[in-house]
Amino acid sequence: MKTINIAIDGPAGAGKSSIAREVASQLGFVYVDTGALYRATALFSLEYSTQEEFLRALEDDCHLELKYFGGTQCIFLNGDNVTEKIRTPEISMKASEISALPEVRAFLLETQKDIAREFNVIMDGRDIGTVVLPDADLKIFLTASAEERASRRYLELEDKPDAPTYEQLLEEIKQRDYNDTHRKIAPLKCAKDAVRIDSTTMGFHEVCEEIMDLVEDRLDLE
Ligand code: C5P
Repeated sequence: MKTINIAIDGPAGAGKSSIAREVASQLGFVYVDTGALYRATALFSLEYSTQEEFLRALEDDCHLELKYFGGTQCIFLNGDNVTEKIRTPEISMKASEISALPEVRAFLLETQKDIAREFNVIMDGRDIGTVVLPDADLKIFLTASAEERASRRYLELEDKPDAPTYEQLLEEIKQRDYNDTHRKIAPLKCAKDAVRIDSTTMGFHEVCEEIMDLVEDRLDLE
């Protein structure tokens, strides 16, 4: 049976993950955070001192698994649950760097396609509507101004020890936007047939409702 696939792309910090998770739970779909695959691959790359060694080891020695516990996605790298470990600014930058390598993108492409073939999914990332699932049933491009994205991240992190400053977060977001939109392969861009939602002045529930309305209008979920 054909599965239903919803793609959500957009820049870092646009709220894709929390919104996709909420919509997936309302629809009973599997939520797939593809950024976690790039982040875990970035963590793997740190074990190697050169890019050549890392790429040579990738195919045979980097085993990634996504598992779901009560709807929450966890990612395992070579048997270790690295879900928390990959959420650092260093891994964010490293993921952005290695995601430009064609070998890395090819390595992760089939994993993502396989999950979408098996389950009804909401998959979030940068190239889901353009490359991974070009035939997705619904495509959303979710964005917001860099300042608004940095300020949301700042509010999420401000109580944590060693929390970055707003200026650091803004700088990181701008750097990742630049990397993600300028890479040669599968750059971040809005697919021609995607619905663009700018959430700069929208609340979380408002965005979820807009997506649920699109789902109702465009998908036959009976
Ligand atoms: O979504 P998240 O911020 O966790 O992604 C980390 C990095 O992984 C991004 O900055 C991007 O470079 C890369 N990525 C990608 N394609 C995807 C998902 C993430 O290139 N589909």
